Amino acid sequence: MNSETVFAEKTCTVAIVGGGTAGLAVASQLKRLSIEKVVVIERENEVGGVPRNCDHYPFGLREYSRFLKGSAYAKRNKKLAKELGVELLTNTTVTKIRPNATLELLSKTERILLKADRVVLTTGVRESSRSQRLIGGDRPNGVITTGALQTMVYMSRFKPFQRPIIIGSELVSFSAIQTCAHLGIKPVAMIEEQDQVRVRKLFRPYLFIKNIPLYLSVSNIRINGDTSVESIKFKNSRGLEHEIETDGVIISGRFRPETQLLLDSHIEIDAGTSGPAIDQHGRCTDTSFYATGNILGHAESSGFCWHEGIETAKRIHEDLLGKGFSGNQMSHLRCDDPAVKFLIPQHLSSPYGSMSMARFYIGLNSPINREIVIKTNLDVIWKGKIKSRPLRRLQIPIPNLP
Ligand SMILES: Cc1cc2nc3c(=O)[nH]c(=O)nc-3n(C[C@H](O)[C@H](O)[C@H](O)COP(=O)(O)OP(=O)(O)OC[C@H]3O[C@@H](n4cnc5c(N)ncnc54)[C@H](O)[C@@H]3O)c2cc1C
Repeated sequence: MNSETVFAEKTCTVAIVGGGTAGLAVASQLKRLSIEKVVVIERENEVGGVPRNCDHYPFGLREYSRFLKGSAYAKRNKKLAKELGVELLTNTTVTKIRPNATLELLSKTERILLKADRVVLTTGVRESSRSQRLIGGDRPNGVITTGALQTMVYMSRFKPFQRPIIIGSELVSFSAIQTCAHLGIKPVAMIEEQDQVRVRKLFRPYLFIKNIPLYLSVSNIRINGDTSVESIKFKNSRGLEHEIETDGVIISGRFRPETQLLLDSHIEIDAGTSGPAIDQHGRCTDTSFYATGNILGHAESSGFCWHEGIETAKRIHEDLLGKGFSGNQMSHLRCDDPAVKFLIPQHLSSPYGSMSMARFYIGLNSPINREIVIKTNLDVIWKGKIKSRPLRRLQIPIPNLP
């Protein structure tokens, strides 16, 4: 901290960093549970998070029992939070995390030091950029992520290209096709480095219906073009050079948790997920901080993040009442199989408590068909056979723990 910085000091019971799906779910549930002062801090001028920019279906089925567009869903989440008495601080960025549930905020007019009883981190994910994906070639205009495409198409009704190529084959890559359709943009191909699409196979016929060719096992991707994109070159699955004419590139998926705030903080970041390491209650290594939603690194749908947020709020409520899990002694969980990329939670605290997460989430580097062991230094926690290819994540029920 700069010694000359003057902060307006404020307090609250629970401060939530990020007003997206997970943040609003935690906040609304905490108010339902009669937690007194719940504050959501959002850097944008509106809360709602990623769904604000998604003018497509389907959102909200589990939460509101109906199909909504992302933008309508974000509005409903905001309305609910306001009606329940959540304080929404928009245009306010959390700039620093301090120990013991303390945050430094920067609004348009002032710097605030917010002291809470608990903080919840719900800053979500963002897609990997072209540089992070090491895509070579020229550097023309017209190379954007799906997130940027959504903002251009839905918020500004701007058509950045007519016939783009989509790099990636995750759920968000398929949602890019829907976004393109809004302004009559027609993708000419989808290319993927892996030998299979990164979604369940039932999505593949969608490409057939939309007449979008799929190229798997591609490598050496290069973009060609001077001021605008002219073509994309790559090695195809047979190792042969292939070129497709196009006027734009959508770099989709390969989500990374939005953890800028954590990088110079005292909170542990997990190497596997690149998100904060948590215990089975959702607590970070400073137990006055919780984390939930996509910041955990598993890149889920809004419905999933909403429900995870509700469960996290229930645990925070128990915690604030002094029930259940007072123990702060964490044991590191690990799985030594090379195919396992990450494990959530990363720690187990004792006592384990009845409100703990019900499942482990496991991310894979490569296909697996063998037994794995999840253990602490002292105990084997789970042992069993897994047969899967690398999808977003697998779920394994956490056994009853002592
Ligand atoms: C490009 C893209 C497209 C997607 N499309 C879909 C889709 O079609 N359907 C679907 O179900 N899911 C989609 N998702 C997944 C999406 O992440 C989830 O739907 C859901 O929004 C996750 O909720 P969250 O609260 O974890 O994160 P988010 O909704 O991303 O919310 C995080 C919030 O934190 C705020 N924030 C971050 N840092 C700070 C800070 N330092 N200070 C203050 N505020 C901060 C951000 O501004 C943001 O509003 C998409 C994700 C991306 C990135």
